[in-house]
Amino acid sequence: MNTKKGSVSRMCKVLNCRNLKSASVKLYSLPKDGVRRDLWLERMNLNYINDTNLKNLYVCSDHFLTGKPSGEFHKKTC
Ligand SMILES: [Zn+2]
Repeated sequence: MNTKKGSVSRMCKVLNCRNLKSASVKLYSLPKDGVRRDLWLERMNLNYINDTNLKNLYVCSDHFLTGKPSGEFHKKTC
């Protein structure tokens, strides 16, 4: 496996959110689990994104009530 890091700047892909990773903002990649991943996409209105883009998709901690993906997802426009 050939994995390159650092070539793409990570940014939250939720609409109207441009958060970058920072001290107060964490970025999370999508769950590998299909059901949960679909739920994320649905809540984020990102259903239009195709599979090839999913691996570059990140969601910032602003969109989770607890600040972590294990918590309840909530829709927030920054
Ligand atoms: Zn965000």
